[in-house]
Amino acid sequence: MARFLVTAGPTREALDPVRYLSNRSSGKMGYAICDALITAGHEVVLVSGPTALESPVNADVIQVESAQEMYDECARQWEHCDALFAVAAVSDYRPSATHSQKMKRVNNPLSIELVANLDIVKTLAATKGERLVVGFALESENGEQYARQKLESKNLDFICLNDPRAQGADVSELTVIHRDAQWQVGPYTKATLATELVEAILKKSNV
Ligand code: C5P
Repeated sequence: MARFLVTAGPTREALDPVRYLSNRSSGKMGYAICDALITAGHEVVLVSGPTALESPVNADVIQVESAQEMYDECARQWEHCDALFAVAAVSDYRPSATHSQKMKRVNNPLSIELVANLDIVKTLAATKGERLVVGFALESENGEQYARQKLESKNLDFICLNDPRAQGADVSELTVIHRDAQWQVGPYTKATLATELVEAILKKSNV
């Protein structure tokens, strides 16, 4: 039995007390992976951005909002975990300033300065040692090329490539890319997709 850290869902980057930047991630794939890992007999700590989903039964669930909060929680948990599935759609950027009061409408065009968020999976994978790290990539073009670059640059063991049709869908498919191999999983419901994915990856790694 191993202890898995899983990230899931979107993050929200606050502009002011009522507005935020985010994305269309539903969290369904990350939650399905938690269920599959638990069914396979493993322990799971889930660090989740805001979703409309029920918490996976038998997982330790930590709810967060922003990428910074997600990183802080993950960094705390990573020391005690054997493997990481980074499924969250983390916002790449956040507003450079969060206004303490609701921003007022202006008559001129409004620009918002964004600054880069920390890459959570890349930062954690830098201290992975022998631990398994699996990432996801959602690409709208040149998927395999971009996913392979991320596999290398983020020091991942596997990367699971999907396209924008996966967002919020109940049925989806993935291309799993490994240093020396790649294969297709699905199309299946996300529950079956997660079961098949977890089984295949765990068989090929020493978790
Ligand atoms: O670079 P990109 O966002 O496409 O990479 C996707 C992978 O990296 C996913 O596994 C996602 O969870 C992870 N990621 C992260 N922190 C970020 C951005 C992406 O952990 N700031």
